[in-house]
Amino acid sequence: MLINIHSHHSSQNNYEILNSNHLLPDKYFSFGFLPTVQNELIKLHDLESIITHQNCLAIGEIGIDKTYSKTLDKQKELFIKQIFISEKYQLPILLHCVKSWNEIAEIRTKLNPKQPWIFHGFRKTVLLESVLKSGTYISIGTAVIWDKKLQECVKNIPIERLFLETDNDLNYTIMDVYAKICSLKNLSLQTLEEQLYKNTKNTFTKWEIG
Ligand SMILES: [Zn+2]
Repeated sequence: MLINIHSHHSSQNNYEILNSNHLLPDKYFSFGFLPTVQNELIKLHDLESIITHQNCLAIGEIGIDKTYSKTLDKQKELFIKQIFISEKYQLPILLHCVKSWNEIAEIRTKLNPKQPWIFHGFRKTVLLESVLKSGTYISIGTAVIWDKKLQECVKNIPIERLFLETDNDLNYTIMDVYAKICSLKNLSLQTLEEQLYKNTKNTFTKWEIG
């Protein structure tokens, strides 16, 4: 079972969480308001009605993005509101973090959330220690296939804290990501599959997987 926790494109894989901006009645999905969304499109009561659907397994992507022009205060406010919703409905968070780990880590320390957070599309290798220390899970995407720094970094991520994804990339499949991680960490595919299955069961608790 190859689990893909974050994809923007529907595939034949039954074990994937699609990133969606609406309710998907026949697929597992995540939903949330990115910091880049226009203010007039943000309706938190819609968020609450969609995430309570049985197929919604996580809130995301949500977070802070310093490359985006919306003010930091506004981004933080939206992020924090969604963290409270994640806690209320007991759903994990898929984190969108661009040049903003300090701010996100500060919010995490302050709010001390009980729900798991997953740093999706992790690539900023210098942050590894701090992200692991905070208790946040790490999801690695297709960049690991060619990014040499990330390849080195992956060797230091405990597989109990790891997830894999394809995100927006159509050039590679989730199998390509699994294969790369197996070779970098010297693991059999079966071992990796079993561990990520466990991680998924413990984290995405609404998912009646397998
Ligand atoms: Zn994404």
